[in-house]
Amino acid sequence: MNLPFEETRQLRTATRAIHCGEGVDAETKAIRRPIVMANSFKLNDTSETLAESFAWENTHAFNYPRSRHPNARYLEERLAGLEGGEDCVVFSSGVAAVGGVFFSLLSAGDHMVSSRICYIGIHGLLVEHLGKRFGVEVSMVDSTNVEDVRAAIRPTTKLVHIETPSNPTTLVSDIAAIAAIARTVGALVTVDSTFSGIIAQQPLLLGADLVMHSLTKYINGHGDGLGGAVIGRQDLITRIRDAASIHLGATINPFGAWLMSRSVVTLPLRMQRHCENGLRVAQFLESHPKVKLVRYPGLESHPQHAIARRQMDGYGGMLNFILAAEKKDYFRFLESLRVITHAVCLGHAESLVQYYPQEGNHPELGVLNYPEDIGEGFLRLSVGLEDAKDLIADLAQALEKIPALRASPEKP
Ligand SMILES: *Cc1c(COP(=O)(O)O)cnc(C)c1O
Repeated sequence: MNLPFEETRQLRTATRAIHCGEGVDAETKAIRRPIVMANSFKLNDTSETLAESFAWENTHAFNYPRSRHPNARYLEERLAGLEGGEDCVVFSSGVAAVGGVFFSLLSAGDHMVSSRICYIGIHGLLVEHLGKRFGVEVSMVDSTNVEDVRAAIRPTTKLVHIETPSNPTTLVSDIAAIAAIARTVGALVTVDSTFSGIIAQQPLLLGADLVMHSLTKYINGHGDGLGGAVIGRQDLITRIRDAASIHLGATINPFGAWLMSRSVVTLPLRMQRHCENGLRVAQFLESHPKVKLVRYPGLESHPQHAIARRQMDGYGGMLNFILAAEKKDYFRFLESLRVITHAVCLGHAESLVQYYPQEGNHPELGVLNYPEDIGEGFLRLSVGLEDAKDLIADLAQALEKIPALRASPEKP
C-alpha cells in the first residue's frame, strides 16, 4: 500500500480495515507499524518551528504520550477511516472514551438526554456522578420510543446520547429520527455503537455527531485488550482531545493500541461471522420449548426489528434469552455448558454467556435494576466465531439437563 491516508479512506470497508493507519516504517522499512515505547519525543529546536511539536493539526507531531503517541495515532487513523469520520481519539477503555466525551462537551447546569438502558458503567456515570455530583441535568428516557425523546428535549438541551443496540438488552433506537429531533434545538448526538462492531451500523451517516466504541469488545475481538474510541467531526474530536486526553489522562498504552490495530484487520470478516452465527443461534433458541423469550435484533419478534432492518447491516452477535425454568435450574444450565463460557464481556472469538441475577446480591446491577427489561433468569449471550452447529448443540444439551416447567408460562 502506497497511498496517503486521505486516499486510503476512500477505499471499500475490507480494504480500509487493513490499510488505514498502516504504512512503511521510515527507519527500518518494516511494512508493519512498530510499537513505540517512548514517553518523550524530540521537540523542534527553533522558535519558528517549536509550536509545530505541540500542534494537534499536525497529526504526527508527538511530544508526550498522554496527549498523543504514535501507536494511538495509527489506531485513530484506522478507526476514523473505517467508521467514516473525520477524526478519532482513543482512550484506555470504553468508559474512558464515553466519559471523556461528556467531560469535554458538558458543563454544570447543562441538560442532556440519554438512553435509559445503557451499559452499566455509563449508566452510573450519568446518574450518580454527572447528575448527582457535577450538576448536569440528565433525563434518562426510553430512546426506543422517539416520542419519549422528543418530550424530554428542551430548547437548551446540549447533548443526546443513545446506545443502540443497548447493553445488555439489545434494544434498538432510531438514530436518524433522534438526530433529526436533536437538530431542532442544536443538540449534539452521540451514539455508543459498541454492539455493532463498526461494521453493522454507521451512525455518522444517519446524523450522529460522534460515535463511541468500547474497543474491548468486537474491535479487539480476541479478549486480550481494553480500549475505547470516539470518532466524528474534527472540531469535536479536537475539543475532546484537548480536554479529556490531557486533563483526564486515560491514555491507551502503545502495546494495547498496537493490538487493537492488529485486530481491526479481521474485523469485517469477523463481524460477518458474528452476524451469521447470531441469527442462527437466536433462531434455534426461539424455537426451543424451554426458552421463554429471545431478543435478537435480527428476529422478526424483536420489538424494534423494523428499525434494526433499516439502520443495520447485519445484526451482530449479541442476544438475550430467558429460560422457562426454575431459578436453581439456571445454574444447572450454566454449569452444563461445555463450549460456551459463563463470563462477563462480549465480542470475543469464543462465545460468552452472562447471567443477571435479580435478587440484589450483585451491587452494581442493583444500580440498574431494569425491572421491566430484565426478568428473573435473564441471560446475555455473546455469540462467538465457533461453528454455529457446535454452539447450537452445546445449548441443546444444556437445555436437556434442565427440567421443563410443568405449566409453561405464557410467552410475553
Ligand atoms: C463494555 C461497554 C462499554 C465500556 O467499555 P470498557 O472498555 O469496558 O470500558 C461501554 N458501552 C458499551 C455498550 C459496552 O458494551
